[in-house]
Order: sequence, then structure tokens, then C-alpha cells
Amino acid sequence: MNYSSPTNLLNNKTILITGAGDGIGKALAIKCASLGAKVILLGRTLSKLDSVAQQIALLNKQSAEPIQLDLNGATEEHYVNLAEHIKSEYGYLDGLVHNASQLGKLCKFTEIETETWHEVMQTNVNAAFLLTKQLLPLLQQADNASTIFTTSSVGHKGRALWGTYSVSKFATEGMMQVIADEYNKSSMRFNAVNPGGTRTSMRASAYPEEDTNRLKTPEEILDTYLYLLGDDSLEVTGQRFNAQ
Ligand code: NDP
Repeated sequence: MNYSSPTNLLNNKTILITGAGDGIGKALAIKCASLGAKVILLGRTLSKLDSVAQQIALLNKQSAEPIQLDLNGATEEHYVNLAEHIKSEYGYLDGLVHNASQLGKLCKFTEIETETWHEVMQTNVNAAFLLTKQLLPLLQQADNASTIFTTSSVGHKGRALWGTYSVSKFATEGMMQVIADEYNKSSMRFNAVNPGGTRTSMRASAYPEEDTNRLKTPEEILDTYLYLLGDDSLEVTGQRFNAQ
């Protein structure tokens, strides 16, 4: 998508991004802040989140808040507490980007380790369910909240060896469609973005032999996310987008 965002696109919007310490989530967090958003940086490695917050502080726009949470170990209580914190600090939430994911291990279906299966499902699917469930009242409080789920090309068509990750992305797209349909008369919108091959550490784990110079950087694929987070997409819900 070729979308040119106005410099005030996200002025004063509060947006939570999971996996904001690295890769696409990091690039998106910095871009959102540069367009005026207050960004809540959620992730599991505090030092990475702090570093992103410092980069955002240098923009002299809004400050960003790092929140450390390992989506793999988080319980429902963590999400309840998170929602309470956001309510008291910000009042409501304009944007939610489910970006954090784990790849697991690429292997034959019968060789998937049960522990890996549960871990990937916990981070990629269960955490998105719990987070959305607890944050929905805050999204409802905003004028036109936008939630983005992150899918993949293997979330649309199964592929050999992509086992758990592929199944988790099918579930992600299904979750987005169910919620979008339930709230299609509301002002909230729910969509999914497939970033496409992007130069990050996850991509490098999946394709270790690849020439990474041929891949777009996270900074180069953000237009679709920005379109969906800003008010130019108010009527758009229940859809799947390819960022490239
Ligand atoms: P990265 O691995 O570069 O970044 C993922 C981020 O998510 C990291 O900051 C990581 O934290 C965080 N994270 C992972 N697991 C957890 C967890 N349990 N709790 C909290 N945070 C966690 O991935 P990408 O930027 O490449 O991927 C972003 C999204 O895009 C993912 O949903 C991925 O599936 C999707 N995608 C990516 C593609 C690509 O080519 N890059 C292609 C298609 C889809 P930490 O830094 O601490 O490890």
C-alpha cells in the first residue's frame, strides 16, 4: 500500500504495541510517536523497550511508556492489571497492535514439540485473546479505535514445516474476523496485516541462508499500519492486508 500519512495523523492518540522492543514493532512505535501518538511499548525485554522509549524521547513529541510483560507467562490477572493501569493513566485506548509473535521451530508436523506448540500458541493466539478481551472496554471508550492483528502468508494458506506458527496465524485471522463481525455496527475496527518478508531477527531465523539486503526494512513497510491506525480507515474492518 502506498499511503502518505499527514504529520499529525496520530496526534494525541494512545496506541499500545506488543513486541515493541525490536523488529517491526519497534519501527512502528517510533513512527507512531513521530506522528503524534502516545505509545505504550509492551514487550518482554525491558532494556530493548527502554531504548525505544529513549529514541522516542529524542523526537520531542509525546513520551512513550515501556511495559515489560512476557506474553508467554502472563496470566489473565496481568491483563486485568494492565487494563486498569491504562485506564487510570490514559482513560481509553485508540489503537492496539498485536505484533509480538514467536516462530517456534520449522519442522515436520509430527516433530513439533508439545512444549513449543503451547508456547507459540500462548504468545501468538492466547495472549491476543486475553489482551483484546481486557482492553475492549478501553477501545470502546475511544472515538474510533483501531485494532491490528499481525498475520503472515502462512496464516492464509498452510505450508509444510511451518507447523505451529502457521496454525497460530490462521487462528489470528479467525479471531480478527470474529471480533470484527461482532462489532461491525460499532465505531471500532479490527483488521489483520501481513507484513510480508521483512528484515528482522524472526525472518533471519526462518531463512538463515537468505540475502537480507533483498528484504525491505521494518521502516519501509509501515504505510498499511499507519493507514489502519489513522482516521482515513474509519470504515474499514474485518479485512486482511498485505503490507507489501
Ligand atoms: P521480531 O522477532 O523481530 O520481533 C518480535 C518482537 O516480539 C520482539 O520485540 C520480541 O521480544 C517480542 N516478543 C516475542 N515473544 C514475546 C513474548 N512472549 N512476550 C512479549 N514479547 C514478545 O519479529 P518481527 O518484527 O519480524 O515480527 C513482527 C510480527 O510480524 C510478528 O507477528 C510476525 O509473526 C509477523 N511477520 C513477520 C514477518 C517478517 O518477515 N519479519 C513476515 C510475516 C509476519 P524480544 O525482543 O524480547 O525477543
